Amino acid sequence: MEELKDKVAIITGAASGIGRASALRFAEEGARLMLGDLDGDGGEALAAELRSRGSQAQFRRCDVSRPTDCEALVEEALAHYGRLDAAFNNAGISDGPVPPGTADYPLELWDRMIAVNLSSVFYCMRCQLPAMLGNGGGAIVNTASIAGQIGFAGVPGYVASKHGVVGLTRTVAVEYAGRGIRCNAIAPGLIETPMTRPVFEVPQFRDMAAATVPAARLGRAEEVANLVVWLCSDRASYANGAVFPVDGGFLAK
Ligand code: NAP
Repeated sequence: MEELKDKVAIITGAASGIGRASALRFAEEGARLMLGDLDGDGGEALAAELRSRGSQAQFRRCDVSRPTDCEALVEEALAHYGRLDAAFNNAGISDGPVPPGTADYPLELWDRMIAVNLSSVFYCMRCQLPAMLGNGGGAIVNTASIAGQIGFAGVPGYVASKHGVVGLTRTVAVEYAGRGIRCNAIAPGLIETPMTRPVFEVPQFRDMAAATVPAARLGRAEEVANLVVWLCSDRASYANGAVFPVDGGFLAK
């Protein structure tokens, strides 16, 4: 069964990792896609790959830390498909391998982290919400993290940005529940993607990381994508304002 047949979905950070895996799953479910990413070549290549398989997919290069780029992504989705049913606000950056503690955390890094990981979600949703209301509702999924639920030493910008995503998600869920829009967040744990590759490709770090997870392994981007597709489908019709871990049990410890 194609759960998202003909639904129009925006995915940010679509060229890589969790966003890419989700774009592939949305396409399998029959969705029509508007993909956004900083990586123009990767995004164009993905859209072309999806079209070659018979899916409808457009790509637009965007920097989600710029409000005008977020607006343009929604406008292009509406211009091309005439409606918006789902949005996966997923683009994000991490702190890098060994960031300093809070007192030494660089101001520029803080500003960048908040702009790309948190303000972007606000910029995207403030355009997506009116577009979804225009066709009677929709579903939004924002990418938070296990770092949006608990603290991690050394990464104050990342942790604060992801906690912020959770707060924004809950606010929108409460505001729009009566108007046909659901808004949820996901909290991925330790997932193997290009973002985490520099750390996890070192066998010693990989083993240490896996040992912190009850499932005793890292997660795959496809395992996150399955949750996102479900949350955007009508099967999740009563799921709203929640944060869904997809972390092999990390937060349950
Ligand atoms: P990824 O493989 O690095 O993919 C992220 C994509 O977002 C990249 O294509 C990147 O482009 C793009 N991007 C970065 N900054 C952008 C911007 N300003 N505007 C538009 N696109 C931008 O990372 P991932 O692991 O899939 O992460 C996706 C999301 O999951 C992030 O929000 C991340 O914080 C979250 N997350 C990941 C994990 C994990 O373990 N992997 C765990 C918890 C949460 P460039 O490559 O050109 O920078």
